[in-house]
Order: sequence, then structure tokens, then C-alpha cells
Amino acid sequence: RIVYLDGTYLPETEAKVSIFDRGFLMADAVYEVTSVLDGRLIDFPGHLARLGRSLSELSIRNPLQDQDWLELHRSLIARNGMSEGLIYLQVSRGNPGDRDFAYPAADVAPTVVAFTQSKNNLAANPQAETGLRVISLPDMRWVRRDIKTVQLLPSSMAKMAAKAAGVDEAWFTEAGLVTEGTSSNVFILKAGHLITRPLSQDILHGITRRAALRLADEAGLVIEERAFSIDEAQAADEAFLTSASSFVLPVTEIDGIRLGDGKPGPVSRDLRRIYIEEMRRAAM
Ligand code: PLP
Repeated sequence: RIVYLDGTYLPETEAKVSIFDRGFLMADAVYEVTSVLDGRLIDFPGHLARLGRSLSELSIRNPLQDQDWLELHRSLIARNGMSEGLIYLQVSRGNPGDRDFAYPAADVAPTVVAFTQSKNNLAANPQAETGLRVISLPDMRWVRRDIKTVQLLPSSMAKMAAKAAGVDEAWFTEAGLVTEGTSSNVFILKAGHLITRPLSQDILHGITRRAALRLADEAGLVIEERAFSIDEAQAADEAFLTSASSFVLPVTEIDGIRLGDGKPGPVSRDLRRIYIEEMRRAAM
């Protein structure tokens, strides 16, 4: 792969970052993952806006202009000949040359890393046909989940717990209510009402969540932005999750309880199809 590091495109084996980089020592870094279909970026303005917000919440200087971020992404797609897959982008506070809790002086430049991950099954994901089985776990992350930082160990541990339990994913709960998935936002559907937790510092403001809500509204569903419990989710007609890498994926079992007949529901399937069609059309 040809990857990007601080202004240079180079083979992945030659891309080296300092051991003193704050991203490495303190997870002092934010990231974005943008999907690519037909060699074009899905919902890129949304990812760019959230990147700007994450950086600003942490007082990390945004090192590039919007147009440069776009060129960088397009250049990686072209250099790697990728038609379908993901682009991972990370900005850390940079390398102050030593370890210190205090933020370094403003002249320390942020470190920018980006690379492609080629996939051929983003749109034709077999899990869209089978549905996902999930378990719930206590949310043990920090209280600013709206900032997309690389502190991913709790999510990593939860994914391993899901794997050990023989299921596909984990949903986090807090104070008896579902927050979100390990790397996704979650939705339930009951009698034509689409229910999802409202935006706050408790969850990541998903780019796919926003698009899915817009499309669901246009399709005539009643949107209810409120938190729900696992009990309520288990009694729902349908459930699904959203993320840039999985789009809209049906959930068919929660903590061992099947939803409906245990097959992906019609609304989840429709929303996935509409999302992919719309996003392909608007890709850049
Ligand atoms: N919630 C969390 C914790 C995530 O890590 C992600 C994506 O990685 C999402 C939600 C979904 O966000 P998006 O749709 O912007 O990918």
C-alpha cells in the first residue's frame, strides 16, 4: 500500500512515527473512517465537519484545509487503485520530543496519517442478509464519546467479549439504557416509529446515523430521538445499526432473544438499499 504521512506519500513499510508521538503515548489523537464505493468518497463533507469538531474540542490545530483533505483522500484512492473500501485518517497532537502530560507548545505540528483498506464486500455484505446477533455490555468508556478519539480499548474489549460469546457485536448500556454499539449507532423500530438515542456527549454523532434519519424521515417513518432499554429493543419489530463501514446492518438477536421471526426486517432492508443508492449518487 501507498500511505500518507505528514505531506508525503510512501510505501507503508517506510512510514515511521516517533515513539514520543502523543498519539502513541497518550491516545492524544482523533480519527475518521470514510467508505469508498466506485472509487468515490461516501458522505465526505460529514466526516470533514466531524473531524474539525473533534480537533477543536481537543484544541488540536486542524493542519489542512477542506480542499487539501479531499485531495489527500482522492490521491490515496488513485495511488492504490481502490474501488471499494475504507480510508482511515488520524491526526495526533504530534511529537513534542519527550513525554509530558501538558500539551506541547503551539509550534509542534500535528501528525497526520492516512491509509486505505481495500474491501470488496461493503455494499454486498453477507451480514445484511443474515442479520447480526448482539449482546449487551456495560459501557465502560469515558464521558466525551462525542469526540472521535483513538482511545478504543473499551470497544476492542467489548468486541472480543462478543466474539467469545459467539455473536457478532456488542451494544453498550448505561443506567439501564442503550448508548450505542462498539463502533456504530443503534436503532429500533416499533409500529412505524424509528427510535434512536438523541445526540449528546454520551454517543458519537454518527455520520451514517444522520443520513439514515434523514432518509427514514423522507420514507415516512416517525422519528423518536430518545434512549431505550434492552427490554424495549428485544420487544421491537426490527433493529439495526449504522456506521460508515457497515452502512445500515439489521440486528436480529439481542442477548439471546430473537426479534420477530429472527430474519432481517423489511424496513431495515429498505433503508440499507436506499442509503447505498443515495450515497452512491452523492459520492465525490
Ligand atoms: N459510534 C461509535 C462508538 C463509533 O466508533 C462509530 C464509528 O466508528 C459510530 C458510532 C458510527 O459513526 P459513523 O456513522 O460516523 O461511522
